[in-house]
Amino acid sequence: MTQKTFLTRLTDELRYSVDNLAETVGDLGTPTVRLGVTGLSRAGKTVFITALVHNLMHGGRLPMLEAAAQGRIAGARLEPQPDDAVPRFDVEGHVDTLVRERLWPQSTRQIAELRLTIEFESAHFLSRTLGRGRLNLDIVDYPGEWLLDLPLLTKDYRSFSAEALTRARDTTRATVAGPFLAELDGLDPQAEADETRARRLAGRFTDYLRACRADERAFSMLPPGRFLMPGDLEGSPALTFAPLDLDGTDAPASPGSLAAMMERRYEAYKKHVVRPFFRDHFARLDRQIVLVDALNALNAGPAAVADLETALTEILAAFRPGKVSRLFSILTRRIDRILFAATKADHLHRADHDRLEAILRRLVARAIDRAEYGGAEVDVLALAAIRATREATLTHDGEDVPAILGTPLPGERVNGDVYDGATEIALFPGDLPDDPDAVFSSDPGAGDGSGDGPGVRFVRFRPPALQKTAEGLTLSLPHIRLDRALHFLFGDHLA
Ligand code: GDP
Repeated sequence: MTQKTFLTRLTDELRYSVDNLAETVGDLGTPTVRLGVTGLSRAGKTVFITALVHNLMHGGRLPMLEAAAQGRIAGARLEPQPDDAVPRFDVEGHVDTLVRERLWPQSTRQIAELRLTIEFESAHFLSRTLGRGRLNLDIVDYPGEWLLDLPLLTKDYRSFSAEALTRARDTTRATVAGPFLAELDGLDPQAEADETRARRLAGRFTDYLRACRADERAFSMLPPGRFLMPGDLEGSPALTFAPLDLDGTDAPASPGSLAAMMERRYEAYKKHVVRPFFRDHFARLDRQIVLVDALNALNAGPAAVADLETALTEILAAFRPGKVSRLFSILTRRIDRILFAATKADHLHRADHDRLEAILRRLVARAIDRAEYGGAEVDVLALAAIRATREATLTHDGEDVPAILGTPLPGERVNGDVYDGATEIALFPGDLPDDPDAVFSSDPGAGDGSGDGPGVRFVRFRPPALQKTAEGLTLSLPHIRLDRALHFLFGDHLA
């Protein structure tokens, strides 16, 4: 490491520690928990945060959140967020879409923040006599794609290129990577730099990454993350690069060559995109929930499941003291609880919730083993932040079959029928395997007995209509195990 880069890093650290100190002192009266909410695109971040806020503000049923079960939560309200430069999470708009229109809100596209202040009575006699407790919950919503970028901080352009091309040439991806690989064919990295060519390569590379994310493939491991979630950086040079075949050319890229141009942009991406995200947002979190759309990967088959496992391993490595975080770890606060949550469990019958949880536990367990993870407490659960279905029993050929009831979104197709958004249907969603290992080897099928493995019939249901009590009170948004998640994430601060 040169002295210059060392100095920059030290300055970053110092700046960060001063910021941290200012935050703590500024909020001396009110303890603050910064909760990171992440997950790959469409994992369920927006829905999770909206449900969390709505339930806490409207006295939702949260029996597994101890403070709520004991009737100690006096109220929750939104307060101005501490960071002026970060967009506010539009919770009012999202609640409106969900509750009034019964549609799903616009998904996360970039970072957003929201402060929820919770008033509670302490469970302890002494603390109670000192007055009511208050907790600032600063919720930070950010794309999981950005998190998968953190390992790039420890990789130079050469190793990034080698890894990205190995993945692109893997048999499971080679077809979708075809046009990009064809562009690389016969290309001399030492040829003169050329903007048109750079843009075409970056364009094909981005198309390939996008195609990997499509539902039928559902791959997860797709850095650089901003290529998929550019935020306000769309079209900037820092996002106009691609990996090149540098094998056999050990020599440094010659000045003015395409390789040199790509390398410089890759380094710019790390400097202007990845490091600021790490320093300004990630390193300031106290608790983290990682939402995982495991059902989508399960439906796409073993290659998508294996890919999800790799992504989870990389994500967990980002939280590990060492490697990436060692750059900052001396003075940063540490995330001390991480929850991995499989979302959209309401697509399954209750009997399958534990199986979904077991599958995610299995995917993360490997990551923990491999990473020799030590530090934060890690837990896993299956949840539905908003429950769009109810359960029922269907009789089929004289046999009782567990089913779910829900209203498919307008235009949703099920068995060839197109739904209008007003018709409720009963559906046998399919079963997950008892043995979590089975998901690495079997053909998923589609919840209808095709294929030899698990398969869940994935129908997009409308959000539920809010129920009213006999007294005419509107109940909060229904959920599955959201309260367990909240208890793990900040229940100890409401003691
Ligand atoms: P984000 O990209 O992580 O912000 O994802 P969203 O929160 O916008 O969720 C993406 C989509 O997944 C939504 O539009 C819903 O269709 C679906 N979804 C998310 N959470 C739930 C849930 O708890 N239950 C159901 N049934 N669908 C959900």
